[in-house]
Amino acid sequence: MAPYGPRRRPGPHRSGQTPIRTNSGSDMPQDDTHLELCPAARDYLGRRRYGPLIDGVETGAGSTDLIETFNPSTGDSLGHIVAGTAEDIDAAVRAARTAFEGPWSEWSPYQRQAMLMRLYDHIDQNYEELAQIESTDMGMPITRTRGTKDFILRTIQFFASQALNIKGETLQNGLAGNVASMTVKAPVGVIGGIIPWNGPLGSQWWVLGAVLATGCTVVLKPAEDACLSILRTVEMLHEAGLPNGVVNVVTGRGSVAGDALARHPGVDRIAFTGSTVTGRKIIEASAVNIKKLQLELGGKSPDIIFADADLDKAVPGAALAVFNNSGQICYAGTRVLVERSIAKEFAERVAAFVKTLRIGYGMDENANLGPVISEAQIARVMSYIEIGGKEGAKLVCGGSRLGGDFANGYFVEPTVFSEVSNDMTIAREEIFGPVMSIIPFDSAEEAIRIGNSTEYGLGGAVWTSNISAAMKVVNGIHTGVMWVNFYGQVDPLVGFGGTKMSGYGAKGTSAHLDTYLYTKSVYINII
Ligand code: NAD
Repeated sequence: MAPYGPRRRPGPHRSGQTPIRTNSGSDMPQDDTHLELCPAARDYLGRRRYGPLIDGVETGAGSTDLIETFNPSTGDSLGHIVAGTAEDIDAAVRAARTAFEGPWSEWSPYQRQAMLMRLYDHIDQNYEELAQIESTDMGMPITRTRGTKDFILRTIQFFASQALNIKGETLQNGLAGNVASMTVKAPVGVIGGIIPWNGPLGSQWWVLGAVLATGCTVVLKPAEDACLSILRTVEMLHEAGLPNGVVNVVTGRGSVAGDALARHPGVDRIAFTGSTVTGRKIIEASAVNIKKLQLELGGKSPDIIFADADLDKAVPGAALAVFNNSGQICYAGTRVLVERSIAKEFAERVAAFVKTLRIGYGMDENANLGPVISEAQIARVMSYIEIGGKEGAKLVCGGSRLGGDFANGYFVEPTVFSEVSNDMTIAREEIFGPVMSIIPFDSAEEAIRIGNSTEYGLGGAVWTSNISAAMKVVNGIHTGVMWVNFYGQVDPLVGFGGTKMSGYGAKGTSAHLDTYLYTKSVYINII
């Protein structure tokens, strides 16, 4: 397999037809692993203008404030999204409130579960269209987007099961007379769901699933840079029979539409996934009406490799923990702490492994890694790479923006720095790009100390054949999720979350549902 993507070969396209064209008409590289868009995705991406979906209807036809959106693989325009305003947010919140107080509030748990199961089938049957939209819009390689299908379906299945698992308690009391007492759980109301660009097709389901299982309603505000898979998903929910107003989407800028949603007095709870900087703004904005908050924020997760680890597994495992999705994963294991005796060998083996990875366009079926999301993001990643070199980290491999067939897209080589110390900028700040920092350590205690020396507390892992050492690290590291001898897999039955400045609020488990419900204490005087 050729490293760094597209193999230019003469001969027929994989489908036996011409190379695919983006909507702007430029050719993708002639490569037999580039997929043609399926008709449904081609139709959707052919629309080229996308407005808010409020009360089941696309709005914003007259809007002249538009945001151009790009295919990050090619830099080609995919058209425009409407920049939603505070008025759009207000209309969407009103629609969500009306739906919350309307017939939807009388749906039984069985009806909500049946709805989720219908959505499961509809998404299952139409998943390829969604995957292709996502890979075109955000650049995630199509094999990875397809791989997300299982996770999304399991998440819907999980929330369908939870619709029947909402329960209060019967409680004793010390009141005089014949008083029965209990708690009941009720949906909190209108949710504001603010979603980032680094995998919206999957991440929206943490909000949608909980909303539909509990009987809440929602206004989603997807990210400016990648919102098409969310808009199409919500259309599909309506095709599958979801009542209007239960799920609404307002496209637009975070500083305008996102801020208006976080401030809106008609919103009861915000589920936010994004950066810690924005999380802080959301906390402030949400104070208006004391909204409940769930904040899933940034990370700088430690991935700790002991000398007795099985390096045949730890090397690719730790590399993909950083480079998957081109480093745009909140719990990416970007600080790789390696026992000093194997640090040099580890760095060499990671560099050799990286050479086997194929970089390609989102729609390249053989690509392991795609672009980062935008020109702004690539500038950010490149500036961190420069800082890493200036502060004395040793560049082992990568470090450049890719040219050639990739020059118009936003591609950075997977980059490995060794001899990094934890006080360097690249070890402290979230880069959100394919940059690994290898930090040597001499003892488990030192690994734990370095691992915890960060403002973040999202993820982490330990690789060792010694279960005692593994558990010492698992117990010592302050993060919301830890993996042992693998990295990054998540199941809604087990969930994950953050601590410290990575935020609060569980994703998955019944604890997730609880935050979409409030508890009402009921006293009954039996006369
Ligand atoms: P971001 O904070 O810039 O944007 C996230 C969302 O917030 C977008 O929809 C954006 O439009 C909106 N937004 C921006 N400013 C806003 C404001 N003032 N008020 C309300 N909304 C606003 O983050 P990003 O760059 O899109 O995503 C990357 C970040 O997300 C990284 O820090 C990453 O770690 C984090 N993330 C965390 C998790 C998690 O589960 N912990 C998962 C994915 C991503």
